Amino acid sequence: MAEIYLGIIGGGQLGSMLSVAAKKLNIKTAIYCDDIDAPAQKFCDEFIFGKYDDKEKISKFIEKVNIITYEFENIPYETLNEINKKKSVLPKPSINRLIQHRLAEKDFVNKLNIRTTRYALVEKKEDLDALKDFLPGILKTTTMGYDGKGQYPITKIEEIDSLKIDFSKNYILEKLVKLKKEISVIITRFGINKYEIYEPIENTHEDQILKCSKIPAEISAEIFNQSKNWAISIAEELKYIGTLCVEFFIDRNENLYVNEIAPRVHNSGHLTINAFNVSQFENHIRAVCSLEKVPLKKLSNAKMINLIGSQIEPYRQNIQLKDNEFFFDYLKKEIKDKRKMGHITTLI
Ligand code: ADP
Ligand code: MG
Repeated sequence: MAEIYLGIIGGGQLGSMLSVAAKKLNIKTAIYCDDIDAPAQKFCDEFIFGKYDDKEKISKFIEKVNIITYEFENIPYETLNEINKKKSVLPKPSINRLIQHRLAEKDFVNKLNIRTTRYALVEKKEDLDALKDFLPGILKTTTMGYDGKGQYPITKIEEIDSLKIDFSKNYILEKLVKLKKEISVIITRFGINKYEIYEPIENTHEDQILKCSKIPAEISAEIFNQSKNWAISIAEELKYIGTLCVEFFIDRNENLYVNEIAPRVHNSGHLTINAFNVSQFENHIRAVCSLEKVPLKKLSNAKMINLIGSQIEPYRQNIQLKDNEFFFDYLKKEIKDKRKMGHITTLI
């Protein structure tokens, strides 16, 4: 087979881990990113720095590669769509456009008869007056949010003024779910009814940022099956190619809700690197590059802890790891508050 050169848009830790997985399959990677310090440049074969609307630099990138994928969803649709006219972009740009918009995403999920939190569009401050029923809730920007950014928990309408919210953007107001647990399901789809799916992963967040993921998730058989079935329906309906993650809420009455979909590999799936024969990253590469689908085998239970901000420091000081512990340093240039710096996976 001719050599495959994979283009990846985005150069964070997910891009790094995708590049590492590609290398294992003898696939070269070129990364395009708008951050000159992007950590993934240390792991890929070629790094191109440029803005996401820089046509010239993007053309150079397109020429290099055969297939293009992305490690984060906040890429302008126009950019992905233009690239797709020259080289195939997977997952398809239209899928990314749908999922990167919280309202369109939730409407889509509801049309499949899959439960989400209750939500309403907020285009201007006054819209909130009619939405008291959605409180307590969280106001979220419709686009560009991640790791809790662009989110405002609200208990009473009167709080709005002190929050200094920029109403030139659109928001959705989501009713707060009384959470019992959060889980995610990662699935890699290769074609019609052709997929590999990981078991549900149990997640805990701190300050709306993922802190810890583990398998097995402590959930009922009903939730186990329903979450997997919903993830399969979503992937099939989207005709998705590659790895996708569905984040779920479980409330105190054991109701399952889809929180959001990530059209990409996901932080909660980092433990698949050590706990399965094929990681979410390798599976993504296999699917977008039309390689063979390998049946998934679980090797171990596992727990992953994100190292956020300065939590990475002790691990960088030559800490002694046990045989069942795996430390990943994303090699980001600067330690910043709330920034994911690395993770540690323990096989249990
Ligand atoms: P992001 O795009 O930043 O990941 P999410 O919508 O997934 O945004 O929100 C991040 C976290 O905030 C969730 O994983 C959950 O812990 C909490 N959260 C968000 N929305 C709700 C909600 N409607 N009810 C309860 N908790 C929520
Ligand atoms: Mg989320």
